Amino acid sequence: MNAAAKPCPICGEPPDVVFNPFCSKRCKHIDLHRWFGETYRVETQDSPDDMTGLPEDEE
Ligand SMILES: [Zn+2]
Repeated sequence: MNAAAKPCPICGEPPDVVFNPFCSKRCKHIDLHRWFGETYRVETQDSPDDMTGLPEDEE
């Protein structure tokens, strides 16, 4: 075990020498998706216009 190794930033598990600093390929992808996820969210800002057309007169 390498005492100087930092834990995986995603799940906190001991890092793998191959996927350092991540513990696995999965955590490495999660970090990438997290990065891209923010970019996607900015692009997909479609306002739900259909919600405003809800019938309010239910008397
Ligand atoms: Zn991990």
